[in-house]
Amino acid sequence: CGIVGYIGKRDVAPLLLEGLQRLEYRGYDSAGVVITGKSGVLKTVKAKGRVRELEARIPKRFAGTTGIAHTRWATHGAPNDENAHPHLDAEGKVALVHNGIIDNADDLRAKLIADGVEFTSETDSEVVVHLIGRSQADTLEAKVQEALRRVEGTYGIAVMHQDFPDRIVVARNGSPVVLGIGDKEMFVASDVAALVSHTRQVVTLDDGEMATLKADDFRTYTTEGSSTSATPTTVEWEA
Ligand code: GLU
Repeated sequence: CGIVGYIGKRDVAPLLLEGLQRLEYRGYDSAGVVITGKSGVLKTVKAKGRVRELEARIPKRFAGTTGIAHTRWATHGAPNDENAHPHLDAEGKVALVHNGIIDNADDLRAKLIADGVEFTSETDSEVVVHLIGRSQADTLEAKVQEALRRVEGTYGIAVMHQDFPDRIVVARNGSPVVLGIGDKEMFVASDVAALVSHTRQVVTLDDGEMATLKADDFRTYTTEGSSTSATPTTVEWEA
């Protein structure tokens, strides 16, 4: 349902929670967050219920400057802690949040299970993170592209990978993804409402488009790999 992400210099958890709160009006049944912790390991907290219940579960030490977060409106699997996003791959190195519906999730899940993958949720989304985690491609961008080639359905996704801590990779097909361009910090959200308190410079992705966000740089390209031009536009917004 709702996606928020940040990469920069500021403490990320409060920024993500604030962004999720700005998306609450859309409705949701659970929420979750993943950050790159100080040790470089991904740290995840999820909770059924309101964003404030998620906030109550966040440990005292939860410092980091890169993270993604989600509010879920369940389509596949009950609203509960396990089915809340982010979802992780088997090694716990890749984290994904997803809006939308993966139409061929049952088929992909059966194939992954046949390959020995153990699922931890009932969601359609979890297949995507396992596909990314199992890709042998060299870059995070290529891993995501390889996974998306096997996926049918709608998605707005944001992906983090422990081995590529300097970036967040996002993709859109039928579910909105907006980049917020800051000064040595980048935001991403499914709705401009989550961005406007931080930046008015936005780039709206098209279907079939992806982006790599780094703290001081971003680029956009297609799921096929060709570069796209993305000039930020200024959003007008009455707070
Ligand atoms: N289909 C996914 C799920 O059920 C994502 C739902 C959403 O867009 O929040 O977990």
